[in-house]
Amino acid sequence: MSTEEVSLTGKAYLSKWIPWRVKRYWFYGVMTILSLIIPWIRIEGNHLFLLSFDKLKLHLMFVQFDMQEFYLLPFLLMLLFIGIFGITVLGGRVFCGWICPQTIFRVIYRDLLETKLLGLRKRIKNKQQEPDYSKIENKIKRIVAFLIWTGLSFIAAADLMWYFVPPEDFLAYIQNPNEHLVLVGTVIGIVVFLVYDIIFLQENYCIYVCPYSRIQSVLYDDDTIMAIYNPNRGGEIYNEHKEKMFTKQKDLLSVNTNAECTTCESCVTVCPTHIDIRKGLQLECINCLECVDACTSVMGALGKPSLVEWSSEKETLFMKGKTHYLRPKIIGYIAILIGTAVIMVMMGSEKENMLLNINKENRLYSINHTDEGKVRIDNAYTFLLQNTLSEDHDYYFDVIAPKGMEGKIKIGTPTEPFKVKPGIVKKKVIVLYADEMLVKDARKDTVIPITIKAYAMDDKVKVTVLRQSTFTFPRADLVK
Ligand code: SF4
Ligand code: SF4
Repeated sequence: MSTEEVSLTGKAYLSKWIPWRVKRYWFYGVMTILSLIIPWIRIEGNHLFLLSFDKLKLHLMFVQFDMQEFYLLPFLLMLLFIGIFGITVLGGRVFCGWICPQTIFRVIYRDLLETKLLGLRKRIKNKQQEPDYSKIENKIKRIVAFLIWTGLSFIAAADLMWYFVPPEDFLAYIQNPNEHLVLVGTVIGIVVFLVYDIIFLQENYCIYVCPYSRIQSVLYDDDTIMAIYNPNRGGEIYNEHKEKMFTKQKDLLSVNTNAECTTCESCVTVCPTHIDIRKGLQLECINCLECVDACTSVMGALGKPSLVEWSSEKETLFMKGKTHYLRPKIIGYIAILIGTAVIMVMMGSEKENMLLNINKENRLYSINHTDEGKVRIDNAYTFLLQNTLSEDHDYYFDVIAPKGMEGKIKIGTPTEPFKVKPGIVKKKVIVLYADEMLVKDARKDTVIPITIKAYAMDDKVKVTVLRQSTFTFPRADLVK
């Protein structure tokens, strides 16, 4: 809230003001809906995102990748981590306050269930006052909150699992729990964790357990935006040893007549991680901006801008001018993100819709005779062909021989296309032969490079692969 914004002052401004908390709730709603519907979005059986461990498949942007194509996964992880690091440099722990499921779940449990629905807590604005569980009424309410949250935890656990076991399979599996004990055990494990974490561990998870809080501070710079108390206007409340000097406004004013902080502590009581933002940057701050809202409403009523701002140290603390958003570090992160995404898309677009390994048998060739009395040179191969699509296909292949030998290396077996079911690796013995003189070398066998073009009969353009191999033709004196 800038000085201009509060020029109307007091109630006129506050009547139009939308707190960050409300904006966060809307954002949480969108994130929750997205996380619930994404696993259900499918096109031709392919999901928007699915990392299926039981079928060893990765579905990404409605394209199915096989286990051998999991090279895309590191790119996804790189995008995730670089993205989070970049967001942290730009907006501090904004991921924690706005996106992290831990924060969203805590808001649902503490602010919605405990405060709004059951009245266990008096006000959302006071998160320091724990419910009085000596009262029997509150004990019952706590059990109700526990049961509701346990039910919601099952939905959250199922939703998480849908990114690894597609919902259509998940719903079928849980109807036969005895046959899917790992799945059922995982869901129950997640539920137990969520109940313990959200009801008992609470924000201690963000402060003591989450590794992200440990690394975030090293990523900050002077332009990183976060919740910051402005001591230049409000006055220093803590000394350099982080000891609190003032709890009453008159004491503060006695040493700093310009200090604007009312010492109302609204910014402290509202804080879910139980810190005092006036102490400066702290590891525990999850950037939820509740303290900004609290001070905006206190100072707004006095016709002044908030003393706690979503701003940078450079702007608010050091007063060195406006926050520099598009700085080299941020441009670097954006460039790395775009580069990684482009490489991933390029590699993903080269995806082959079938997988084929060709192994030539140890015996280089066999020399046979046809019914017509011609000499026939056979080469045998083992094809390992995998149908990576989601429907059955009939496959066959062509042999592309070098110039001058076109059509002279023929397919012996199989003579007909063969069917491969989705996800199945089919092993097929292939025999190629030549029944005319390909090379006349009296001294040694000749290795002829060939290309195998394998394809699905019903889509030779899209479902096709090329593999290099060799055909060995014996030395001339053996071919009689
Ligand atoms: S100090 Fe507390 S209330 Fe303010 S942003 Fe950080 S966690 Fe939220
Ligand atoms: S809410 Fe604002 S005025 Fe009240 S104690 Fe916090 S910083 Fe000071």
